[in-house]
Amino acid sequence: MQDRLNEFNNETACPKCDSKTVSKVKYTWWGGVLGPKLLHHTKCATCSYTFNSKTGKSNTTGIVLYSVVLFVVAFAAWYFIRTM
Ligand SMILES: [Zn+2]
Repeated sequence: MQDRLNEFNNETACPKCDSKTVSKVKYTWWGGVLGPKLLHHTKCATCSYTFNSKTGKSNTTGIVLYSVVLFVVAFAAWYFIRTM
């Protein structure tokens, strides 16, 4: 179990082109500062592909989920304030 978890922690490479020139994304339009941190959002400098450094997979599902959750929370807050 522990060995499998460490597989991506020791050496993060781009899942698309296998380049090791990857860097953490600090800010995105969809998640601000917190979103990319939560999703371990990483960008490849060679092919511009963005992915989750923890799973080595694309973050598209995570980004959609994050946006939906943010929208629901914002809408709930707006609705709550309006009905007070
Ligand atoms: Zn790449």
